[in-house]
Amino acid sequence: PMDPEAMFKQGFLNDVYLERPVKPVLTRFPPEPNGFLHIGHSKAIAVNFGFARYHGGKCYLRYDDTNPEAEEEVYFTAIADMVRWLGFEPYKITYSSDNFGKLYEMAEKLISLGKAYVCHCDDDEIKRQRGGEKGSSPRYRCADADQSVEENMRKFRDMRDGKYKPREAFLRMKQDITDGNPQMWDLAAYRVLDKPHHRTGAEWKIYPTYDFTQQQHSCLCDSFENITHSLCTTEFYLSRVSYEWLNKELGVYEPMQREYGRLSLSGAVLSKRKLRELVEKKFVRGWDDPRLYTLIAVRRRGVPPGAILEFVNELGVTTTNSIIQISRFEQTVRRYLERTVPRLMLVLDPVPVVIEDADDLDGTELTVPFSPKAQSAMGDHKIKFTKTVYIDRSDFREVDSKDYFRLAPSKTVGLLQAPFPIKATSFTKDQATGKVTEIRAIFDREIKKPKTYIQWVAAEGSGSRKCEVRIYNSLFLSENPASAEGGYLNDINPDSEVVYPDAMIESGFDEVKRRAPWPEAAGEGKGSSSGPETVRFQAMRVAYFALDSDSTDDKIILNRIVSLKEDKEK
Ligand code: ATP
Ligand code: MG
Ligand code: MG
Repeated sequence: PMDPEAMFKQGFLNDVYLERPVKPVLTRFPPEPNGFLHIGHSKAIAVNFGFARYHGGKCYLRYDDTNPEAEEEVYFTAIADMVRWLGFEPYKITYSSDNFGKLYEMAEKLISLGKAYVCHCDDDEIKRQRGGEKGSSPRYRCADADQSVEENMRKFRDMRDGKYKPREAFLRMKQDITDGNPQMWDLAAYRVLDKPHHRTGAEWKIYPTYDFTQQQHSCLCDSFENITHSLCTTEFYLSRVSYEWLNKELGVYEPMQREYGRLSLSGAVLSKRKLRELVEKKFVRGWDDPRLYTLIAVRRRGVPPGAILEFVNELGVTTTNSIIQISRFEQTVRRYLERTVPRLMLVLDPVPVVIEDADDLDGTELTVPFSPKAQSAMGDHKIKFTKTVYIDRSDFREVDSKDYFRLAPSKTVGLLQAPFPIKATSFTKDQATGKVTEIRAIFDREIKKPKTYIQWVAAEGSGSRKCEVRIYNSLFLSENPASAEGGYLNDINPDSEVVYPDAMIESGFDEVKRRAPWPEAAGEGKGSSSGPETVRFQAMRVAYFALDSDSTDDKIILNRIVSLKEDKEK
């Protein structure tokens, strides 16, 4: 396992701290509650919460809820859940909307300083003021910019009091239109919007604008909360100037903004609009469908939060955006599971093998370790050996060949943990389907070390159970679904989910479930310690699995978290 704090010790985040080596460090994670968090957000969470924790400081969870049009209650809860699931506890949960009053005061203060004006221009006019298409003409200000402080104040209060309709007036900051940076070209600060807000109700008829929300006003909230290091993604690099401008003009505490690169996964779709379309058009079962890369989906699939943090840590933090292949993410998850989850036997497509000379061993109890490591804290469990065992259809061939080492007529194979290897003697087939329905075998007591061992599950009645297994493959065929011909919906992999309805799992599953979450699975956050997804194991020779939330007491449904080895084909 790698040093869980490596990314704070050198590189970008260390430099950021050295620029302002203050204590206590205060940071914030400021999501807009307008959607579910995705894997990219886990980087923002790890960076902000981790940075604070590493420096003995605190991190706020701040809902950036200043746009009443897109917010829904469910997102608020889901966001806090995910932060906790990743193992972080917010110092405080705050809402940008709690600052509406203070923000309003700041806007008035800005007006009184002659640094903001109420403007009546429409979008086309504003575009012309900003130099038109690609800056083809000189920039200029409208006459509104010359209004007196008194007039601006009166008009702004009229905006507040509902005397303007949407788009008839808005508040603009008076920045510096000669600056080369478009973020200084008199950005909008407040707009009229006659929509109730989920927390403040009908109290406000004006709201901070999107620009203001994303950039300037978030700097004010940062300032109100005494954020020392305001860490955000690089699309805000140009906004740093206006971020600093506003705090300075208002004479309030100045947090330091620094920008790090975004994380995305190639072959995955993360945009809210596209995710919504996938859900609404039923290409997936919901926002938490294990084939998606929302955090609720990744959790449901069974990926441990510790593995996600390890992934972010491994990639490190720099100022460049990174597009990482899903296979790389899976590689980290696989390595993490390898050392943290118990092992069991499962067969996807069971075929019964009757071992004719096993009468004396029928029902024998075997002691089987959960881990291949001799001294593992995972311990042992007991399973029964039975005269009839189930093996996977793919481990039997009707016709033997020299380069084949599993079960076939007259060929011997080992059964993991079983007393002796077995040799097939005959088999029967269903005439209609051509499928093998039963294999007959005998022990091969001569061979001490067979070339290959296969997994098996004891007969029903011995504690083994039927289960449904869902194998997930990439949801998209190409690495870049967004630019696929005919759009990403045309790029859907028809085999993104393969279901084995009649799989069987050994009796040890019950103990794995009872003991979940396994203490070995470090990194399990507080909010999630009892979810079905914490029932994780390696099915030997098959894959890593977790219990799906669709499961009931009578029906076990398992999700493939990742394969055992990197898949070469999709
Ligand atoms: P999206 O494009 O998914 O809507 P966003 O930036 O609008 O993303 P927010 O909810 O505002 O999403 O994000 C909260 C925080 O998470 C912001 O500080 C943002 O910079 C960060 N963040 C969002 N996406 C990523 C990503 N892919 N990688 C790293 N950080 C991200
Ligand atoms: Mg955002
Ligand atoms: Mg967004």
